[in-house]
Amino acid sequence: SDDLPRQRAPRVIAIANQKGGVGKTTTAINLGTALAAVKQKVLIIDLDPQGNASTGLGVPPARRTTTSFDVLVGSVPLSEALVPTLVPGLSILPSDVLLSGAELELATDQGRSYRLKRAVDQYFQALQHESDGFDYILIDCPPSLNVLTVNAMTAADSILVPLQCEFFALEGLTQLIRTVERVRGHLNAKLEIQGIVLTMYDSRNNLSAEVAADVRGHFGDTVYKTVIPRNVRVSEAPSVGKPVLLYDLACTGSQAYLGLAREIVRQERSRSRLKQGEVA
Ligand code: ADP
Ligand code: MG
Repeated sequence: SDDLPRQRAPRVIAIANQKGGVGKTTTAINLGTALAAVKQKVLIIDLDPQGNASTGLGVPPARRTTTSFDVLVGSVPLSEALVPTLVPGLSILPSDVLLSGAELELATDQGRSYRLKRAVDQYFQALQHESDGFDYILIDCPPSLNVLTVNAMTAADSILVPLQCEFFALEGLTQLIRTVERVRGHLNAKLEIQGIVLTMYDSRNNLSAEVAADVRGHFGDTVYKTVIPRNVRVSEAPSVGKPVLLYDLACTGSQAYLGLAREIVRQERSRSRLKQGEVA
């Protein structure tokens, strides 16, 4: 209502693709870090029971006393479950394997798809200081189109889709788009596609270039100009619990994620200018 203090609304982006191993978690961790590096306040919500985003951001299981499961079932408010990371300006809501029980736990709840949205809305309604707000919330989705992914899409403003530059990249995209349309129709009419990001691009491999050209042919400007290269530093970094930008800032992977962050910040600036124009 009008008498609540106005807080900067965050841009909530669900990183989704029901295929496993396409770079969702890697993108959540490193895009989140890169956005923080360009002075944005960022929250990553780990919504995968595998907890790879939590591990990759240096939050070991022992520090995951409260998790996204607790927040989804409503036993803990989001504000009490956030954990700071090594990266200034970047926090995480961690997950653990218990999250795999969420489907069963919420099975009889008619409002189960709105659990995450409600928790995020409550956080911003209760916010006392603007400095506790976020510019971006990135949700790392599990590799399936289950109740967790539906919660992410219901809470989100948009979907960011990582596509691996390999032969079957486009396979499954029809199903993903159908799910987005179903969520739009029933749960979240404003859900947009933020963009498609090509991942694990191998410049020595013709197939990567062919897949990239094919995806751009299909989706045009929806595909980010920045391409994430296959880079061994990117895959090494999680084993030391760090985003690649803290592990090796100069490597091609770090520089690509910085490029993607800048592209998204520019995209959001022009979107809010457009919106202001509509209102004026
Ligand atoms: P998802 O979350 O979609 O299942 P991940 O982000 O976990 O995918 O990535 C799958 C695997 O590929 C991981 O081992 C990760 O380290 C590796 N990987 C992801 N992106 C890159 C990259 N740009 N270069 C090299 N390895 C990558
Ligand atoms: Mg993952």
